[in-house]
Amino acid sequence: MSAVFENVTCKFCGCLCDDIAVEVEDRRILKAKRACPNGLGMFLNYDPTLQSPLVEGKEVEWDEAVSAAADILSRADSPLIYGLSSTSSEAQRKAVELADRLGAIIDSTSSVCHFPTTLGFQMVGGAACTLGEVKARADLLIFWGCNPMEAHMRHFTRYSANAKGFLTPNGRRDRTVVVVDVRPTKTAKTADRFLQIEPGTDYEVLTSLRALIKGKDINEPVGGLPSEQIKELVQMMKTCRYGVAFFGMGLTMTAGRGYNVAEIFALGAELNQYTRFFAMPMRGHGNVAGADQVITWLSGYPAAVSFARGYPQFGPGEFTSVDVLARRETDAALIIASDPMAHFPRKAAEHLERIPAILMAPVTNCSSQVANVILPTACYGIDAPGTAYRMDNVPIRLRSVMQKVRPTDEEMLMRIMEAVKQ
Ligand code: SF4
Repeated sequence: MSAVFENVTCKFCGCLCDDIAVEVEDRRILKAKRACPNGLGMFLNYDPTLQSPLVEGKEVEWDEAVSAAADILSRADSPLIYGLSSTSSEAQRKAVELADRLGAIIDSTSSVCHFPTTLGFQMVGGAACTLGEVKARADLLIFWGCNPMEAHMRHFTRYSANAKGFLTPNGRRDRTVVVVDVRPTKTAKTADRFLQIEPGTDYEVLTSLRALIKGKDINEPVGGLPSEQIKELVQMMKTCRYGVAFFGMGLTMTAGRGYNVAEIFALGAELNQYTRFFAMPMRGHGNVAGADQVITWLSGYPAAVSFARGYPQFGPGEFTSVDVLARRETDAALIIASDPMAHFPRKAAEHLERIPAILMAPVTNCSSQVANVILPTACYGIDAPGTAYRMDNVPIRLRSVMQKVRPTDEEMLMRIMEAVKQ
């Protein structure tokens, strides 16, 4: 007989929608009501059949797999712990402890997506708000270098453009949506204004907006936009009641990177002279924001942290995983809840293939092909409870909707830690 669980959190993306109704029968998810196609894929395709760990392709007992993993990590001179964005914050905490114990480098998937957001934030700070406030109050929404209609499919309906809020009871009719991007996207098609800028000119356009806000004048086109359009946007920003600029990898991973983000944070802060205005990153993976939070509490830095000297050192470009791997500066890797082989550049992926690797994840992926030890763990939010941080850094509880038959990442990391100590 099937059972329905209400208000389950989908941990696929940084929206962490916590209103999903999940129907389960015989350890299979039959339905996930209200989930978008991305979340639906995660729920309906979840298959906990792989229950035994593998060492060099052979099924072994858990003790043997833990000892093989501990052996690889203890023998390494410079181990790397990478991933963490789709696991729980409880497991992230254990991963940092293990990195400290091993003298390892720890880095999250943040280093290949929103790391420049952290660097920009460190440069100028920023004014923060929650998605609840956006839903209740925001009448101007700017989406810069991001495409929520395809990447965060329920963002519009739950938190932003179409959501009915306290000061926006008519939803979309009470809000103005502006998209700034280098090409027309699905999100751009729904916008009231689409400003198509030339690739690599985000910094110039943002700087022009700031200059106009400070009373300077601009009469030349910037980034391919006529000055009138830029002035019109400034006017909209200054006169809105509550504005938010959401930004994605179109801003963080293009020319200027952290400097682009520093500009958008500074712009948001400066607009508070006129109105209430905020800038918020559109975080991708379900708990990538949690990885930043947890690594920061424990080491003082959000990612790219090395414990090799016995204390945490922060090194963007030096301890970021892609750089460490491409320069062949690590001799073992523990990959947690991520798939670097599917996303890393060739040079980094080639080195990952060469060194001993351990994969801890609920599903097999491209990185399973190169892992010497595979630890199939429970999936937080499906068969294990845990905590994840939404893109606005609000912690949300992940519920379990079926009985757990495999250990969690947290339990595995604790067992590896014990084995390493011995
Ligand atoms: S928007 Fe994100 S969190 Fe919400 S249902 Fe879709 S994938 Fe899941």
